[in-house]
Amino acid sequence: MRRIGLEIHCQLTGLESKLFCPCRSDYRGMAPNTNTCPTCMGVPGTLPRLNRGALRGALLIGMALGCKTPERLAFFRKNYFYPDLPKNFQTTQLDAYWHSSAGGPGSVDLGGGSVRIRRVQLEEDPGRITYGGEGRNRTTLVDYNRAGVALVEIVTEPDLEDPAHVRRFVSALADLLENLGVTDPGLEGAMRADANVSVGDGARVEVKNVGSFRDLERAVRFEITRQEELVSRGGTVAGETRQWDEGRRITVGARVKEDDPDYRYFPEGDIPWIRLDRGTASSLRASLPEGIAERRARYAGLGIPAQVADVLSSDSHYSALFDRAHTGPDAKEIANLVTSDLMGLAATREERRGSGVTAGGLRDLAAAVISGRLSRKSAKEALLRMHEGGGDLEGIIREAGLGNVTDSAEIAGVVAEVIAEEPGAAADAASNPEAVNYLVGMVMKKTRGRADPAATISEIRRALGG
Ligand SMILES: [Zn+2]
Repeated sequence: MRRIGLEIHCQLTGLESKLFCPCRSDYRGMAPNTNTCPTCMGVPGTLPRLNRGALRGALLIGMALGCKTPERLAFFRKNYFYPDLPKNFQTTQLDAYWHSSAGGPGSVDLGGGSVRIRRVQLEEDPGRITYGGEGRNRTTLVDYNRAGVALVEIVTEPDLEDPAHVRRFVSALADLLENLGVTDPGLEGAMRADANVSVGDGARVEVKNVGSFRDLERAVRFEITRQEELVSRGGTVAGETRQWDEGRRITVGARVKEDDPDYRYFPEGDIPWIRLDRGTASSLRASLPEGIAERRARYAGLGIPAQVADVLSSDSHYSALFDRAHTGPDAKEIANLVTSDLMGLAATREERRGSGVTAGGLRDLAAAVISGRLSRKSAKEALLRMHEGGGDLEGIIREAGLGNVTDSAEIAGVVAEVIAEEPGAAADAASNPEAVNYLVGMVMKKTRGRADPAATISEIRRALGG
């Protein structure tokens, strides 16, 4: 039997400032060690000041994960020495002395089984260490720009069974966090993880420092294989901490695993303990956005096929766009345009931000498809033009000549041309339906697919005296 538990670290990237000081929360792209102040550098005499938005974000995450909301919260010092931790302790949370962390226990429903959440806690991110060089030129560089950024740790019970299970869980969790608006999982380093892996009766091995969810699946797969091979050769798995080596894609032994007593937790005396009254908790709960499962059910109620509803509901950006665009009867068509065309055109955050597609534009486009004015192919082309350059649908149809040709005189003209060019097929058409199809195909070619098919067939029949 395999047991996998995860500790997911998620930065609250939507905040302006760090957890306890006014330094910027968005440190990305800054020169090393320029986003620091005496507080996040741990200079003696400085005092932390709790970022209320961070506490709000952590509580919201707990609520969205179905956790019980605590009445009393406190921060604790977790003592250990490491170069990326200038204070020599990390300010974090713990369930002790009648106080608890931001939430727990809860669960994430994966459809056909849920994963239990043990605890949600708010803490500070350490700095970042970069190792470089070789031999005598080996270097260890520390950048404290990240030190003190608000981090939420989500700890699961060891309910996961294999790497694919891990992948499904983290992707559902990333969707949930993005939907809450507290984090952007796409940002480098915004979501990291440690994994606890054990096989059979073996000891628990903690794999630390996995920098992305894609690597998490790899790390878990490697660790399961390593442990199972060791056991099959008669060995015993030792309880230890291992590091994920991103470059070599293996785990390497790091140190004997510490237990909680080694950290000598003690209450953080510089941050007042917090009482969360019922009114605050319930107004916070009322501010939770619609959950992904509820949204999926609402979309199914609009007649959107299950697979499309699944894709659309788990994407908070596109579901919001869809909700602004549809009027009810056109929901299915708009959902289709968004999931099968627009999501492919604008996948990344930058592409989404730069897209010229508006809710009104989508609505017009769906109406044109439903009325038969635009073929699906032309609609796709119009959507691409709208995405790249913006503008209203009428202008795009005019400029690109995309509208279906329904004018019978115009179609009759093209039919006459085709019959003159293809006398053989025209002669066969009376007795051979294939020949009619061939002629229709030629008309479509000349009109670049814009001729209305039904009108074309009737014009061909009329021209041939049928
Ligand atoms: Zn600072």
